[in-house]
Order: sequence, then structure tokens, then C-alpha cells
Amino acid sequence: MLVFRQLFDPPSSTYTYLVADRASGEAILIDPVFEQARRDAALVRELDLRLVATLDTHVHADHVTGAWLLAQMTGSRIVIARSSGAEGADRYVAHGDRIDVGARHLAVRETPGHTNGCVTYVLDDASMAFTGDALLIRGTGRTDFQQGDAERLFASVREQILSLPDHCLLYPAHDYRGLTVTSVQEERRFNPRLGGEAHKEDFAGYMQHLGLAHPKQIAVAVPANLKCGRPEHGHVPAEAPAWAPLTYTFAGIWEIAPQAVTELQGPVQLVDVRQPDEYTGPLGHVRDAKLIPLGELAQRVGELDPDRPAVMICRSGARSAQATVILQRAGFANVANLTGGMLRWRSEGLPVA
Ligand code: FE
Repeated sequence: MLVFRQLFDPPSSTYTYLVADRASGEAILIDPVFEQARRDAALVRELDLRLVATLDTHVHADHVTGAWLLAQMTGSRIVIARSSGAEGADRYVAHGDRIDVGARHLAVRETPGHTNGCVTYVLDDASMAFTGDALLIRGTGRTDFQQGDAERLFASVREQILSLPDHCLLYPAHDYRGLTVTSVQEERRFNPRLGGEAHKEDFAGYMQHLGLAHPKQIAVAVPANLKCGRPEHGHVPAEAPAWAPLTYTFAGIWEIAPQAVTELQGPVQLVDVRQPDEYTGPLGHVRDAKLIPLGELAQRVGELDPDRPAVMICRSGARSAQATVILQRAGFANVANLTGGMLRWRSEGLPVA
């Protein structure tokens, strides 16, 4: 079975795609974003997958790739086109190469024109293709900077993308209107720039008069992406807060395991957000945990110290997850949710008061 997810980075309107082979557990990410690396790694982990590679469709001008950071975090290999000119990849691909993902694979098609090094990755059965900025939904990537060349882009899209089967789904690297997917058939008919009867001269004329603003991130993004997203200083940003061994979830919450709570050093606040009768009920509570029911937390947040780490506790870990959000909004920097709540605490045989 193929595992497929479409992920979004709001600041840059970038789509990142997870493609994985369920049987082998092997996964790849296409066009990951630096700031979303922690989220993407959490999803891979929660789906019981192993990130074997990241694939960039080209050297982006509007965001920094997460390729290098994910390689540091997970050991994934960095893949990009030879013609991109980027340094620091583990594998450089060219037209006709194939990238294995367990029993499945993606074929590389060179589709230059937006940049020199643009490629489209086509799934083995041609049911989906990842077009980067060569083809967008009812649009195309721009051709007015990097090595943009409208005539070249026209040929790439017509010969390498719109030549795929009618029903092949096309997934772009961006959409600025929230559209998510298109198909070869509909882009052939309805793409206003190069669909229908458009000639390359029509396309070139269209592209010359787009009048787009210069990308805000280009001065930062292009140099970083020419190093596959490795920052100048080469340090991995702190992946997790240092006060405890925490795990970041795809839901966006830092979690702490029961055993780790018993090993915490220093002045940590334990906060139980259940009702008073649960706190004194049969499940018991963790010794020294302060009772503040979830419904009162926002009003009573002043009873807690925002400069000390806090662990939120409830029955199953659901209410306390919401409690971490409330404390974060109140300015607490170090908040974690007890994974699985008191149920998990008890099942691990840990002591209660
Ligand atoms: Fe681009």
C-alpha cells in the first residue's frame, strides 16, 4: 500500500509531500521546508515509517529546504538534480533516474525553464507526479529570475508533464489560493498559459507581463538552498527543549513519558487538570501535583510560575494536551503533556498519592 500525505507551509504556501511504501516502512519527503522539519519528522514517526530520503524539485527562492536539517535529525539522504548546481547532496539525479521507496519508485524527468535544475518526480504507475514549480494548478512557475526561460519551460511542460496519462494527478510545490491537486487532462485543456492551443510565443508573451513582486526570501533562500538547506554556521537548531526528554507530536504538542517525569531534576511544576473527585478518586494522582481543573486554568494561571517548566496531567492525556496550549498562550515557554495521562502512569506501575 502507498502512503501519501500533502503537507502545507503557510508562510511560503509550499506543499511538502510524504510518499511511503507501507510494507517496507520506507518514506520520502518531496520539497520539505526548514521550519517544518520537526512537524514532518513527527508525522513520519507516528505513521511508523522511516525517512530514507528527501527530494527537492529545484533550488527554491521562497523558502529554505528542510533537506539538510532532516538529514541531521533522521539520517535521511539528500536528493536533488545534478543540474541544480546545489552542493552537499548525497545523490544527484538526472533524467531517467529512479528513486526507490521500498517496493515503489519515482522516475526523474528533467523539466527546466523555471530554473535550470527543475525536475518532476513521477510515481512508478504514472498515477501521480510532483511538478515542483514547472507546472502549478492553472499556472506555471515564473521565469523572470534564477535561470528562468519561458520557451524552455513551455517545452518542458508540454513534452514531459502534459505527455503523461490523462488521469495522472499533478501535485505542485505551491498554490496561493489553497487549491491542492490537478490532472494532466484538465491542465492540457484549461491551463490559461500553456494549455489548449497556446503556442510557445503566446506563453513567452504571457510570462513577460506577469508583473510579480520580487520574492521576499530570495536573498536568504537561494544561497541556503545551494547548500541543500545547511545554515552558514552548520549547527542543528535545538530540536527539543533541554529541561526533559520530550517528543514533539504532529498535533503540535510536546509530550513527556511517565518514567521521564519521575526522573526530572530541578523545580518542575506538576499540574493535574482533572476534576477534584478524579484527583482524589481511584486512579490517584502524582505526588506533589497541583490540582487546577482545566475549566479554571486560564483564570488561575497566575498561581503557576512561567519561568519554571510545567508538566500537565489528566486521565488520558487529552484534557492536559489542551492545558499545554492554554499555558503556552499565557507565555509559558516550557510546557509538556504527560503522555497517556494517569491511565498510562498506572499501567507502568508508577507510585500515586
Ligand atoms: Fe521555485
